[in-house]
Amino acid sequence: MATKFDVIVIGAGPAGYHAAIRAAQLGLNTACIEKWLDKDDKPAYGGTCLNVGCIPSKALLDASHKFIDAKNHFSEIGIISKELDIDVPKMIARKNMVVSNLTKGVAGLFKANGVTTFEGVAKLHANRSVEFTSHKGDVESLEADHIVIATGSVPAEIPPCPITDNLIVDSAGALDLDAVPKRMGVIGAGIVGLELGSVWNRLGSKVIVLEALDEFLPLVDAHVAREALKQFKKQGMDIRLGTRVTGTEIKGKKVKVLYSDSEGDKSETFDKLVVAVGRTPYTEDLLAADSGVTLDERGFIYVNDLCSTDAPGVHAVGDVVRGPMLAHKGMEEGIMVVERIAGKKPLVNYDCVPAVMYTHPEIAWVGRSEQELKANGEKYKTGSFPMAASGRAMAANDTVGLIKVIADEETDRILGVHMIGAHISELIAEAVIAMEFGASAEDLGLTMFAHPTLSEGLHEASLAVAGHAIHIANRKRKK
Ligand code: FAD
Ligand code: NAD
Repeated sequence: MATKFDVIVIGAGPAGYHAAIRAAQLGLNTACIEKWLDKDDKPAYGGTCLNVGCIPSKALLDASHKFIDAKNHFSEIGIISKELDIDVPKMIARKNMVVSNLTKGVAGLFKANGVTTFEGVAKLHANRSVEFTSHKGDVESLEADHIVIATGSVPAEIPPCPITDNLIVDSAGALDLDAVPKRMGVIGAGIVGLELGSVWNRLGSKVIVLEALDEFLPLVDAHVAREALKQFKKQGMDIRLGTRVTGTEIKGKKVKVLYSDSEGDKSETFDKLVVAVGRTPYTEDLLAADSGVTLDERGFIYVNDLCSTDAPGVHAVGDVVRGPMLAHKGMEEGIMVVERIAGKKPLVNYDCVPAVMYTHPEIAWVGRSEQELKANGEKYKTGSFPMAASGRAMAANDTVGLIKVIADEETDRILGVHMIGAHISELIAEAVIAMEFGASAEDLGLTMFAHPTLSEGLHEASLAVAGHAIHIANRKRKK
């Protein structure tokens, strides 16, 4: 006899663990199955995000930023720090401690909320029956009225750069180096490549990024992307666009990368190569032939706007379905699905998904970019504010960047907000809230912001849409 639940969630990454906890809060008898094993072969919750993604990368980004700030900028503000050094194993150990605290925290939340956990692998069969195989190999039959698949994604691989034990690594490997490589190659100038490239560049590696596309960060507002490229180059990252990697050769403890660009065939030799060319949805051994769940042409589980699959009562959320591969997008999908199971009617607003790149300067945006609106022939107006004109940014000795607000030309409704600068990962929430409530640029202009804060940049950029900004010379000044 199968053990029966109201809801079985497969995967305890951010999408799955939010779904499981919310389902239990709503009084649904909930189970969550998770197969992750940490480096010591111990079960761990939290998925990619907590174990090898968002959290460990931010721990290293924050630590390496403090180092480079102390090294390059402390003297400018009158702090003399002599004999500055780094202890990479300690940095990695602290990162591991943060990860461990958080993954254990998820286990604690499951317990506190009454989620039944199964540590091992799930396989979905017809009629919402699940075959569970524990890490010891014991098999158990489970079933539920509702299944939520949240099996996430894994790093994409490319044939010229097969992952090796410690020379050619993926994002997880790049979070676990025990020393600073002298020369580091990064394939892919996406978010992973730039965040992890930044970490090791700050700690002293010569970082060369090989990107296939001719354009830098094509999904980011062009104005912001231009500023970002300028800043990363200034920091010493060598970003080569329009390159095609054709092969790798391992030579002792080094790896030679063969690539071509518009000038012909070239090569570079590195102490470490990080492959960061995107992620692919993960459904390996998940779906029995009779599960009724279908995949789209790119391997994502096919779902509608409410995250329902083709199989009745089976839902899928997070990286394994269409949309941006971001933890918070998966969390909101997970919550939407279980709240709808409980009879509530929430929706995910896919027009208001914030994206943040945690480099320095940080890059963040929500909504649409100018290039997107232009391509659609839509009429819009913009207002920008340079952080160099912010009193708080000057006081903090960090004036790089800008904030740009894009509003509908006729209605003034905010269509997108794009930012580059220090701490803007926190500022973008203000823009998301404004857009969620359908605010106009004038609404933000009429709102009072505390002084002196970086947030005032959003206020000024909103005022600038109508030419009213106080701290910039307005060319389109109006009464
Ligand atoms: P995952 O987190 O991948 O979790 C899926 C879980 O399902 C895993 O634990 C897996 O073991 C389990 N599973 C899979 N198959 C089975 C099965 N058959 N049975 C049982 N369990 C199974 N996003 C952000 O929003 N902000 C960031 O700052 C950020 N930084 C990142 C940095 C890096 C280096 C990387 C790689 C990613 C980063 N991301 C970030 C992306 C983010 O990690 C993902 O979007 C997020 O983890 C997706 O959540 P998920 O729950 O859908 O899947
Ligand atoms: P990505 O899609 O953001 O970037 C991959 C880059 O690699 C692209 O620019 C692509 O053109 C390039 N590329 C692909 N094949 C190539 C090749 N053969 N040679 C050279 N370049 C090649 O993917 P990613 O950076 O690996 O990130 C994966 C996912 O994880 C993203 O969807 C992202 O949303 C998520 N993530 C988010 C954060 C964050 O929110 N801060 C951080 C890390 C990762």
